[in-house]
Amino acid sequence: MATADILVVGAGVVGASVAYHLTRLGHDRVTVVDARDRDVLPGSTGLAPGLVGQLSSTPELAVLAKDSVATYLALSQASPTPLFWQVGCLEIATEPARLEQAHLDVEHGRRLGIGAQVLDAAEAVALAPALVNAERALGALHIPSDGAADPAGLTHALVDAAERGGAGFRWNTPVCALERDQGRVVGVRTGKDAELLRADRVVLATGIWGPALAADAGMRLPMVGVQHPYVFTTEVAGLDDTPIDTPIVRYPDHSVYTRRHGRRFGLGTYSHTPLPLTATTALASAERPFREADFGAAIAEATTLVPAFREAVQGRRLNGVFALTPDELPLVGPAAALPGLWFAEASWVTHAGGVGRQLANMLLETGDLLVTPERLAPDRFTHWTDEKTRETALGHYQGIYDTH
Ligand SMILES: Cc1cc2nc3c(=O)[nH]c(=O)nc-3n(C[C@H](O)[C@H](O)[C@H](O)COP(=O)(O)OP(=O)(O)OC[C@H]3O[C@@H](n4cnc5c(N)ncnc54)[C@H](O)[C@@H]3O)c2cc1C
Repeated sequence: MATADILVVGAGVVGASVAYHLTRLGHDRVTVVDARDRDVLPGSTGLAPGLVGQLSSTPELAVLAKDSVATYLALSQASPTPLFWQVGCLEIATEPARLEQAHLDVEHGRRLGIGAQVLDAAEAVALAPALVNAERALGALHIPSDGAADPAGLTHALVDAAERGGAGFRWNTPVCALERDQGRVVGVRTGKDAELLRADRVVLATGIWGPALAADAGMRLPMVGVQHPYVFTTEVAGLDDTPIDTPIVRYPDHSVYTRRHGRRFGLGTYSHTPLPLTATTALASAERPFREADFGAAIAEATTLVPAFREAVQGRRLNGVFALTPDELPLVGPAAALPGLWFAEASWVTHAGGVGRQLANMLLETGDLLVTPERLAPDRFTHWTDEKTRETALGHYQGIYDTH
């Protein structure tokens, strides 16, 4: 068969974004392969509630998030149904130190071009009465340009736009190995009759499955899969189908976040012992069983914090896996030790638009980069042991809002 120029493995939000940006830059010799059906998202993207917060103590994350918001807004405006709602974000301070930090964050945001202001507790409650705890809030950082995405809808829109731009998609095509020849990656073997798909460059955008495929080529990817609980209420009387009409709300002092989802509310918490998970290629979905013993106490605590959850009947409870790195920055760029192989791994929905743009520009050598490539280099932890990588990455889990 013909050799593809660029072959992307994985069409979650990250792989779809890479293909989208390649075609936007005029490059149509792109093939994307995914084990999934076109309509179903079994990876992390299909489980994410889609909160998008741009302000971060790591400036590169803020740059990637800002760029993602610009892409998501443009796609949303061109779509018959909204894909991104710029409803803003409230970061609630329940401790005096957090309120002091909020004032510093306003200055930090100004330097990054992300507008923010400090609100008093009453102003915060008025913006999102169902989600802001009036008894506990001392004030809030308000970031009006943040919001919520529909991660599945966004991914479908990125795929459709990339396809219109000339990219080819092969669904139900699991990749079981990277094909190597004379010290470089020259394509992939698929699970369908071990078919060989040749390519000049192969991009792994396989989310939590990245390390398993990379290991096949003798490479260690410095990322760790971690299980994460997210729960919904059942339908709440008085709510209509409006997807979201108030800011997303975070409680950084408690590692809790929450938003409206139409007739229901949703809530996630990081306030539990981190639970790593190593995804093998046999794992069909990023969703794992929700275990009360692992998450019950943290969810119970979080539901006392968020007014909408106090009286509501709880509905779906999910446990989804996503990936963390030791410095919380994604892995974007070429594999230094293996020519022909590239990575777009360990990115959140929040940063996926920017990650796609960054990698597309690197692949096409335009020189037009959002972030210095070294900061995202996939081999930046080469000298770390597996244990140090894992412990450091997991160590960020509960304090995730200090950077994201
Ligand atoms: C419960 C939960 C809540 C979250 N909340 C948020 C949030 O609010 N905001 C936010 O920004 N992020 C959030 N995240 C994180 C975010 O969802 C992920 O970081 C992001 O979706 C990763 O996208 P991805 O494209 O890299 O991976 P995925 O979406 O997992 O996509 C990987 C794709 O690769 C394919 N694939 C894997 N292996 C192979 C193979 N061998 N051959 C072919 N195809 C393969 C899979 O089928 C899949 O389609 C959350 C995640 C979870 C689980």
